[in-house]
Amino acid sequence: MQFLENFQPELTITSPGRINFIGEHTDYNMGYVLPTAIGNKITFKFSRNDSYNECNVFSVGYQGFSFDLKEIAVSDVQWENYILGVISEISKLTDKVRGFDCTIESNLPLGSGLSSSAAMECGLAYGLNELFDLGLSKLAMVELSQRAEHTYVGTQCGIMDQFASVMSKEGHVILLDCRSLEYQYIPIHIAPYKLIMLNTKVSHNLASSEYNTRKMECEQGVAILQKSNPEVMSLREVTRAMLEKGKSEMPSKVYDRCSFIIDENDRVIAMTEALKKNDLKTVGSILYTAHEGISNLYEVSCPESDFLVDFTKDNDAVLGARQTGGGFGGCTLNIIHENAVDAFIKEASEAYKNKFNIELEAFEVQPSGGTQVI
Ligand code: ADP
Ligand code: MG
Repeated sequence: MQFLENFQPELTITSPGRINFIGEHTDYNMGYVLPTAIGNKITFKFSRNDSYNECNVFSVGYQGFSFDLKEIAVSDVQWENYILGVISEISKLTDKVRGFDCTIESNLPLGSGLSSSAAMECGLAYGLNELFDLGLSKLAMVELSQRAEHTYVGTQCGIMDQFASVMSKEGHVILLDCRSLEYQYIPIHIAPYKLIMLNTKVSHNLASSEYNTRKMECEQGVAILQKSNPEVMSLREVTRAMLEKGKSEMPSKVYDRCSFIIDENDRVIAMTEALKKNDLKTVGSILYTAHEGISNLYEVSCPESDFLVDFTKDNDAVLGARQTGGGFGGCTLNIIHENAVDAFIKEASEAYKNKFNIELEAFEVQPSGGTQVI
């Protein structure tokens, strides 16, 4: 694009991906989650271009595009919708945005359950807030980014990804209550263990349609339970006893989805306690139990993720593992003793290659800070 030739950025923003320790699919069910940002991130460079409404955005590895702030509409090119959706949502709150140029460069694997999508949305929102002095709070940026994903991208996501990308604090996970948006930073010390991500490199494109289906199944469960429990607004208010009482009235899949969410909320609280006590054995075993639920009850795993989680089970140096993120592939999160990491990665890579003929990608992550100006 033409602007790239003499682009002189006036502002640089980094916007991180995230992992979620525990609490998968609980955010849109108004439950608890325990995410943190990681070191892998998207870097945005911005400059005002002195035009009233002309914008140019270029992302490394993609074709750049230009648009007019007065004519924002959903694009046929999906990645552009992460940008356009944020612009559209910002324009509902303020008219202070003017023409700008932006370059984007990422070291976050896409579609791997590390939420490159939220990093895109939040980095843009944060950058425009700084560039044009929009006066948006962090929470406003989180919420408008989530709405952008609903309205322009079409994924009915909860608030976790955007919240984690913007609000995270180095060395901590965030215990977030997605109903009240109250949150606490929980320090995390897992040495001599490390957090190792294994990227299955599988990104099933049914992920976003199945995601919306899971959300509907949970809503179906809530609607059935509301008949005898009018106070129930979401699965957050549903107790195990209520669910068992309503079991005969719901399709078995709906029961399984609800059952998973109720257990998963309990696991977030149990995980928080275990992290506070530095009880790493319990931390690990909660990950394994969660994966069972992800695979058998919520049915958002896949053979590749199941294989990698199972592969860790007879290795004493691995405390626990599970698939993270929305599902159907992406990364598994593993807690591995530092002395065993290299050997483990080598063995897992060989086994994975033999089984699926895919080169496994492994990397360490550390709880990191949120979106920021550099
Ligand atoms: P995840 O959020 O787990 O990475 P998603 O499917 O929700 O997976 O989001 C991935 C999509 O986000 C990509 O397919 C692409 O459209 C968009 N995206 C992510 N990073 C970038 C980038 N650096 N440049 C352009 N688009 C990106
Ligand atoms: Mg995403």
